[in-house]
Amino acid sequence: MRRFDCPSCGAELHFDSLCCLACGAEVAFDPADLSIVPLAGRVACSNRQMIGCSWEAGQTGALCRSCEMTQTIPDLRMPGNVERWRRLEDAKRRLVYSLLRLGLPLETAGGNRLRFRFLADAEGPDGTVERVMTGHDNGLVTINVAEADDDRREAMRVEMGEPYRTLLGHCRHEVGHFFFDVLVDEGGERARFEALFGDPDADYGAAIERHYREGAPPDWQERHVSAYATMHPWEDWAETFAHWLHMTDGLDTALRYGLAQGVDPYGGGDPMDALVSAWIPLALAMNAMNRSMGQPDFYPFVLAPAVREKLAFVHDLAHGRGRRRKAA
Ligand SMILES: [Zn+2]
Ligand SMILES: [Zn+2]
Ligand SMILES: [Zn+2]
Repeated sequence: MRRFDCPSCGAELHFDSLCCLACGAEVAFDPADLSIVPLAGRVACSNRQMIGCSWEAGQTGALCRSCEMTQTIPDLRMPGNVERWRRLEDAKRRLVYSLLRLGLPLETAGGNRLRFRFLADAEGPDGTVERVMTGHDNGLVTINVAEADDDRREAMRVEMGEPYRTLLGHCRHEVGHFFFDVLVDEGGERARFEALFGDPDADYGAAIERHYREGAPPDWQERHVSAYATMHPWEDWAETFAHWLHMTDGLDTALRYGLAQGVDPYGGGDPMDALVSAWIPLALAMNAMNRSMGQPDFYPFVLAPAVREKLAFVHDLAHGRGRRRKAA
């Protein structure tokens, strides 16, 4: 993530700033230019008042490039849902920023647009609960809004034995499934995929059942970036894709603050090995910082050689070094 300055006074702003705290100028984020601009003379996203979306929209009354990708928002009559929606859109804008900066296509060649819906579990009159499963289907990403509640997400994280669970992580994982369709399937890369990840057509239902019955194999860290990635080759890809986005944006932020050097993570000119070499000392230092503060590790993962190979595959396809990548 880049650093941003106030266009009026030059004070440092954040990616999601609405207003400069130093001079009071109202600002907006221009998704075409990926920069912060004065709001005066620009059109704000129509979600600015309700959920604090800082992005600029094309015309009055319209949604911005990120908000317009949300097909269904939670029921705002339910207490707490405006705040949940706000948190989900905050995370999603960071995701969309990365996708725009990478120039990745937001639609498959087959015409499936990437879009989102944020849904809540529904309780019927008889007390039965219809659960919303977070997942992806043909470009449509569904996220259960309960993930936006810190207490519920943390309880899920502990219950599932996961070291890391965030809204941004969910966004990055679920779009990973969409980019399987774009980069692997439509990209004609299934053979190379299969050699690294396994058979993408393996029975998914049986894989879920086995994963929740037996858990991950004890030596999973030698081949997978997370225990969840062991469930099915699709999940392995999505977890790897999410990690590649964590590292791409994390390294870019580090560069901007002088914490890393010599790589251009968004540019794609460096091989994945170079990014990993820059990432490891950064992650070690950040983990040590977090431990100094009594916080959980910043990056609670291990990158075994087999995992690095998978990351390199994602990196190469996403930067157009596969056989085919649709123009953005
Ligand atoms: Zn200012
Ligand atoms: Zn917006
Ligand atoms: Zn998944």
